Amino acid sequence: MSSPDYYTILGVSRDATAEQIKKAYRKMAMKVHPDVATDPDAEEKFKQVNEAYEVLSDPDKRAVYDRGGDPMSRGGGDPFGNMGGFSGFSSSFGGGEGFDIGDLFGAMFGGATASRGPKSRVRRGQDQLIRTQLSLSEAVFGVTKALRFDTYAVCQVCQGSGAAGDKEPVTCPQCHGRGDVIVVQRSILGEIRTSQQCPTCQGFGNIIPEPCPECSGQGRVATSRTLNVKIPAGVDTGNRVHLQGQAEVGPGGGPAGDLYVEIQVMAHDVFRRDRENLEMVVRVPMSLAALGTSVDVATLESELPDCPEDRRTVTLDVPAGTQSGARLVLKGYGVPSLRANRRGENPRGDLGVTLLVQTPTKLDDDQRDLLAQLARLRGEESGPQVVTKQEGKGFFDRLKDAFSS
Ligand SMILES: [Zn+2]
Ligand SMILES: [Zn+2]
Repeated sequence: MSSPDYYTILGVSRDATAEQIKKAYRKMAMKVHPDVATDPDAEEKFKQVNEAYEVLSDPDKRAVYDRGGDPMSRGGGDPFGNMGGFSGFSSSFGGGEGFDIGDLFGAMFGGATASRGPKSRVRRGQDQLIRTQLSLSEAVFGVTKALRFDTYAVCQVCQGSGAAGDKEPVTCPQCHGRGDVIVVQRSILGEIRTSQQCPTCQGFGNIIPEPCPECSGQGRVATSRTLNVKIPAGVDTGNRVHLQGQAEVGPGGGPAGDLYVEIQVMAHDVFRRDRENLEMVVRVPMSLAALGTSVDVATLESELPDCPEDRRTVTLDVPAGTQSGARLVLKGYGVPSLRANRRGENPRGDLGVTLLVQTPTKLDDDQRDLLAQLARLRGEESGPQVVTKQEGKGFFDRLKDAFSS
């Protein structure tokens, strides 16, 4: 058996130190981790990276490997028992449900750290994280999205057993069903007895005499699936929708992992979200700001196909004497509260409208005369006046906020 090039897999030189190997492994493991990587071969690569690290991090195995031997034929105990302090890799999913690397390896390798005995061919599938982009109106009012993702499904040919036809698994002749074997090594200190995973059955304690040709004995097949995911009203970027048991089926047709859908909300041309409120900017001509006016503005929900007619626009009353930068509030035209939603209520935030008073440009002679007359009547010919910080308070901030997204 020839081993793959572990140095190349980890991207280190053949004289790399233990510390360099450890660093390279962490980097690669995070890059190709199946929950993160989009590459369809990520799972396979992840296994390769782990195998490379198992060998290169163990001085004995590395020496065997360097001499061209098969490092896996020697006793090594638990290759993942030294994963303590492996930081920066545990990610916590929404709802406070964390999962850590220990669970992950347990799921992948059938509980390498668990007590002795054959491991089960049936294991739980891994949790999966997928991402979806929503328009602002979809995020604010909720939507059902058809999401397609790569996953594993139970093999329909063997129904998850991994065996072709009705041939039952047979007890492993090497370990007699224990799943591990005792290896005796002679050294100058005497005999060293170590227990290692049975190479004949890979620790399962039994052998499938004729593996299912469809799934190669895995009991599951790679597939892609489309799921209609109901996304509640009021979600925002970074929120995750948790779908229990909707992720990949485990090896041996084991129970499915949980699917998490992470939301990313796209920027809107008009509206900006600020927690429970929506914010927008409306331009008002100088004359109308002085005289007072009203205007119908299109609401965010007017983008919904089933928006009731009376919610498509809302009338904004601009009182006489409105200053540039003033913010008017339209109650109940904001974002439904996620929490209220769960309680079956539906209180909503507000729509804040910041007004931008427009100074007229390109005046003709008549207009210029009228404005000059107005200035005379109002005694404004003395000119501009310096604004104190107290007078301008909040105004500049509001204008700045109004255009940031
Ligand atoms: Zn099968
Ligand atoms: Zn065995």
